[in-house]
Amino acid sequence: MRIAVIGAGVAGLVAAHRIAGAGHEVDVYERWPGLGGQAATLDVGGGHRLERYYHHLFTTDRHITALYDELGMPDELEWRSSSVAMFARGRQWPFTTPGDLLRFGPLPPPSRVRMGAAVVALQRLANDRAPYERVTARAWIERWMGKAAYREVWGPMLRGKFGARADEIAMVWLWNKLRLRRGEDARDERLGYPRRSWEPLFDALRRSIESRGGRVMIDRPAVRIAAGLEVTAGAPGSFRRGHDPRTFEAAGSERYDRVLATVPSDVFEQLLEPGLLPDDYLRRLRSIEYFAALCLLLELDRPLTPYYWTNVADRELPFVGLIEHTNFVEPARYDGRRFLYVANYLEHGHELLDLTADAVLDRYTPGLRRVNPGFDRSWVKRTWLHREPAAQPIVTVGYHERIPPLRTPAAGLALANTTQVYPEDRGTNYAVRLGEDAARAVIA
Ligand SMILES: Cc1cc2nc3c(=O)[nH]c(=O)nc-3n(C[C@H](O)[C@H](O)[C@H](O)COP(=O)(O)OP(=O)(O)OC[C@H]3O[C@@H](n4cnc5c(N)ncnc54)[C@H](O)[C@@H]3O)c2cc1C
Repeated sequence: MRIAVIGAGVAGLVAAHRIAGAGHEVDVYERWPGLGGQAATLDVGGGHRLERYYHHLFTTDRHITALYDELGMPDELEWRSSSVAMFARGRQWPFTTPGDLLRFGPLPPPSRVRMGAAVVALQRLANDRAPYERVTARAWIERWMGKAAYREVWGPMLRGKFGARADEIAMVWLWNKLRLRRGEDARDERLGYPRRSWEPLFDALRRSIESRGGRVMIDRPAVRIAAGLEVTAGAPGSFRRGHDPRTFEAAGSERYDRVLATVPSDVFEQLLEPGLLPDDYLRRLRSIEYFAALCLLLELDRPLTPYYWTNVADRELPFVGLIEHTNFVEPARYDGRRFLYVANYLEHGHELLDLTADAVLDRYTPGLRRVNPGFDRSWVKRTWLHREPAAQPIVTVGYHERIPPLRTPAAGLALANTTQVYPEDRGTNYAVRLGEDAARAVIA
């Protein structure tokens, strides 16, 4: 069969790798002039690459680990100790081990014990997800861990991921997160990072696809999917016009036996010829909302904090997380250079999303000083700013009933994107699994 895969993020590349491996002819269309989608990297100079958005793996991420093995790159992944902190009441509190929880000042001591017991119960005893699908995390936590636990710990953590929608998030999301992060040793959480960034994985997948006669076309977006599975491609440079394919200039079309789109749901709808999919399917697509990620990457001349990951629980700070990559991977890997991501998740239309990197840094500087009063703009050697509109599907109560199936009602047309990763949260590991499921669905 001739199969088109739209999107060369992890899901699209893995699907194309499997489709080509099964002996089909595959064309991959990618809007961006590079591979990897949300896990794409940038050249930070000196022969080094870093992800545009901070990335690591958990020890439970077995699909992507197996893929590294299969591609002959098992040594690429390194597992390192992580260090987590919570910024609350004007200081950073270590938040990695059970002992840290017992010393967490913002929470009254009895609440610390109650919360610890509830977390252990969730991780070890609660095997059925159904009860957690019908209740918000806020209601569940306030009932079983207490109001202080939500106010001081979980509310801020959920805000770190879902911004203003934190209070509506279904408990199933947190239940699953806690279970996946239950490592063998609670005192030393290990996280994975590929020694040369995620880029070599994308290269290996591209080589595998091309070696079997497939085509991986970057800076070559899809503009339209029409009846008869006709895919119209966009002219080079279309990415400069943004994300909406209806604004791209058409540059030729081809027919396929199957089409697999791995783009966000809103982009998928914009690609469709009107009438190709029924209204009830489109309503389902629209019923899942995304938050945007705004990620400021700073090269600093010294560390800002001693931690890899800091959740910001103080709502006066205009960002939700600090991810100090070089407190995880040693600066020596980058010739002594240091990198910090300042993370935010925002609703579409938020004013911060329209600012330049310098303007965002201006807004963030007082907050960075709150975390480290010594921080000065002279510490910043370089800045990069990235925005991802479809960064985080909002997992509210009843979410699973709204997930669009892989196979759409149009024969031969499939969709695979982060809204379908459930009950786990989106992540490269699940994009690998999704790409494999999607390949099976389109070939069948
Ligand atoms: C801030 C942030 C932090 C993250 N941290 C982690 C982490 O620590 N660990 C982890 O494992 N995961 C992390 N993730 C999630 C992970 O990156 C994603 O879940 C995964 O990469 C999604 O892959 P995908 O292929 O499903 O989607 P995407 O990566 O979104 O791929 C979709 C692709 O479609 C392309 N496209 C869009 N429109 C068109 C068009 N018209 N024509 C052709 N192509 C088009 C896009 O350019 C993109 O390449 C993070 C994500 C973000 C935003």
